[in-house]
Amino acid sequence: MKDLKHLIYFENLLMDADNDLVRAAQAEGRVCVGSVCYQIPEVLMNLGNCFTVRLRAPRTGSMEMGTYYLTSFLCEYSRALLERAIEGGYQFLDCLIAPDGCTMINRCVENMELLKMNDKEHFFYKYLEVPMKADNNGLNLYVGQCRSKILEPLHEKFGVDISDEALRKSVEDHNKICRIITELGNFRKEEKPRITGYEFHIITMCTYVCPQDLLLEKLEETLEEVKNRVPDEKWPYRARVAVVGSEVDDIDMIKLIEESGAYVCADRFCFGSLPGREEIILNDEEDVLTQICRHYMMSCMCPRHMDTPKMNRRREYVDEIAKEYKADGIIYEQMKFCDPWAYERMVGSHVLRDEYGYPVLTIDRPYAVGSSGQIRTRVQAFVESIEIKKIQGGRR
Ligand code: SF4
Repeated sequence: MKDLKHLIYFENLLMDADNDLVRAAQAEGRVCVGSVCYQIPEVLMNLGNCFTVRLRAPRTGSMEMGTYYLTSFLCEYSRALLERAIEGGYQFLDCLIAPDGCTMINRCVENMELLKMNDKEHFFYKYLEVPMKADNNGLNLYVGQCRSKILEPLHEKFGVDISDEALRKSVEDHNKICRIITELGNFRKEEKPRITGYEFHIITMCTYVCPQDLLLEKLEETLEEVKNRVPDEKWPYRARVAVVGSEVDDIDMIKLIEESGAYVCADRFCFGSLPGREEIILNDEEDVLTQICRHYMMSCMCPRHMDTPKMNRRREYVDEIAKEYKADGIIYEQMKFCDPWAYERMVGSHVLRDEYGYPVLTIDRPYAVGSSGQIRTRVQAFVESIEIKKIQGGRR
């Protein structure tokens, strides 16, 4: 297929945490709110003249200092972020909001605070307690935490309008981005998709790490381009896979899977679109903040939620998206030493294989995958096993 006109532009935006669009927004006096997890509702940080950047540590090399402070038993995402913070890579932020979604990321941000990683005068850190159960008590907790740890500090420190009207406007803007990403993502359901999983991942990731309004024009142009794109006659992949798991913000990860012969048709991972890029539908009866928090709490597929309905729902959801996006198999990936996903990967992979009948590959991986020969070999072997099953007329 012909390369997307803006692909290099999108790739370049992922080369640094403070990319060109972040710098452009800050040059206009806008406030940059850093966050580290899906469970800090984006729409509450894209309010008024604020915009949010979900932290990544592109081009991570050594993590020696991060490991010194956090030990080698904490996940590489948290160590890579701390390393980058020590290097001064997050000086551009105006505040940083973290959840207790997992203790590792919490400890990472606490260390940034203890080491005084940001010297802006008005800079503040906030830590949210996010629910472990998706029920009414959990929702009450979540609403209170979002109000006192996100909205009120943004209002007090930066004068941000946190009225219901402002929240509704933020949701409206968010939905515009979600509609484009969803439309682009729907092309992955085609028999010969006109967008690669890699391209889709790059574009989706940009929407998490850039001021979204500054990205809109290029996204709209890309959607039009993809609508008119003609896929190659000969499709270069041998199988379709859904990738499920924790943080994937390394641009090489999806590329590596696709180079190994598996088209990534569904992205159920942090920084992916399933969930994350579905519209938020508001009604006129209920308090807006409660509706936003309910949306995030119910749509979240993170193993941080430990109630039985949510645990079962996570596996049903993987089955649903695998069917919808026509996946031949599922790759469960987990960042090394990520506790929530270690548990989910182990149980989920068995359930999806034994109860739902999917071929499943499980991987524990470093933060920066690079050109890992080991992962490449495992994906290639997985693709072959799917092909053999198809030839033998296996269940899937
Ligand atoms: S795995 Fe869960 S806690 Fe960690 S970043 Fe993703 S959503 Fe947040």
